Amino acid sequence: MKDVRILIFVFIALILVFGFFIFRNTLVNNSIFENYFNNYFTDSSVEEEIANSSRDFEENISEIETKDFVDKNEYWRERIELALAHTSCLELPRQEFPDNYYTGPLTDAHLHIPAIPDWPIGEQPDNESLIGRFEGPEAYLGFNIKMSEIACTIKNEGTHKNFAFFPVYDEDISSALLEIWDRTMKEYPEYFTSFIMSSGDDENLRGFPTVDSKTLNSMLRDYPSLFKGYGEIGLYERENGGSRSLSPDSKMLKDIYHVVRGYDLAVYFHLGEGQKNAFEKVLSENPDINFVWHGDQLSIQEIEDILSKHPNAYYGVDAFWGHDQDFFLLFVSGETKDEYLKELNYNFDRILNYAVNDWKYAVERHPDQFVWGIDRGDTVWNYDLDVGRAQVRLARAFIGSLNPEVQERIAYKNAQKIVRL
Ligand SMILES: [Zn+2]
Repeated sequence: MKDVRILIFVFIALILVFGFFIFRNTLVNNSIFENYFNNYFTDSSVEEEIANSSRDFEENISEIETKDFVDKNEYWRERIELALAHTSCLELPRQEFPDNYYTGPLTDAHLHIPAIPDWPIGEQPDNESLIGRFEGPEAYLGFNIKMSEIACTIKNEGTHKNFAFFPVYDEDISSALLEIWDRTMKEYPEYFTSFIMSSGDDENLRGFPTVDSKTLNSMLRDYPSLFKGYGEIGLYERENGGSRSLSPDSKMLKDIYHVVRGYDLAVYFHLGEGQKNAFEKVLSENPDINFVWHGDQLSIQEIEDILSKHPNAYYGVDAFWGHDQDFFLLFVSGETKDEYLKELNYNFDRILNYAVNDWKYAVERHPDQFVWGIDRGDTVWNYDLDVGRAQVRLARAFIGSLNPEVQERIAYKNAQKIVRL
C-alpha cells in the first residue's frame, strides 16, 4: 500500500515539473516575458554577458600583453642588432717588433666587454650614463662601439682567445645580452673565450657584487655550453656607498662554486682587502675549479705564497703602470686616447722596466700560474686599435724579457689550461 502511494507521489511530481517546463518555454518564446524569464530562471543572458565581457577582457589583456611583449622584444631587438652590426675591417700590416720581443701567440686574459644601453629608445641618455666608473667616456655596445669594431681591434692587434668578460644582469636586459654573447661567440670564436660577468646590484649598500647562485644558474641554463668562465667578479668593497666586500668563502659564493662546477667554468676574481686566508680555504676546498685573480690587494710575496700552495690558483699580471697612479688614471678616465698614448710612448722603457723588475722573477718561479691581461673597458677609446697595439707592444717586450722556457706559458698556454682548451 505504501509503495503505491510513493508511486503516485512521484508521478504527480513528474507531471508538475514537466508542466512547468512547457509553461516556461511557451512564455520565453513570448518577447514580453523573455527577458524576465531568462534573467530570473536561467540567468542565461547574464551568463552570456559575463562570458562576453570576460572574453573581451581577456582579449584586451592578451592584446595588451602581446603588444607589450612585442614592444619589449622590438625594444631589445633593435639594440641587439645595433650591437652586432657589421663594420668593414681592413687587415692592416702587422706590427714590427725588435728581435728580443716575444712574437708568438698572445692571449689577453682580462678584457671587459661593454653592455648595451638600457635607457629608453628614442630618448637621449643623461650625462650620468655617459660617464664611466672612473669618469671617462663610458662604452656602450651598439651606441658608441660595436662588437665588430672590438673584434677588428683584436684581429689587428694580434691577440687571440682573449678572456672576454661578458656582462649579464639580472634584469629585463639579461636575455638580450645572452643572445649577443652567443652570437658573438659563433661569429668570432678565435678572438674570445667567454666569461659570464654576472654582476649584482653592486651600487647599493644592500646589494652584492654578483647575482646569487639561482640567478646565475638560470642565466647559464639557456646557453649551457656558451661560457668557459665566471667573472671577473670584484669581491672588494665598492666606492661611494656601493656593496660591501664579499668573502670568497661566503655562503653566497660557496653556492656559486656548486653551479660553476656543474658547467665546468673557471672563476676570475678581483680580491678585496684581507681575503687571502678565505681565498686559500676556497682553493683547497675546490681543487677541481681553476681560480684566477688579479688586483693589488696582495703583495707579490703573498701572491707567490698562494701560487706555491695551490696548483689551481693563477694570477693575472696587468699592472703595467710604472708605479704611476696618474698614468693609470689616464687609461681609465682620459677624455681621449691621445694623452694616454703620448705618455705611454714617452715613458715606454721606464714602464717596461718597472714591470720587469716587479714580475720577472715571480713569473719565472711559477711559470705555469701567470697570465697576462690589459684590463681594457673603462672608457670607450680603450678598444681603439692604437691602444691595443701599444699594450701588445708593451706585453711582447715584457714577455720577451723572461726566460724563453716561460714565455709561451704566460703568453697563452696557461690561459688555455685555465679554461681547459
Ligand atoms: Zn677587470
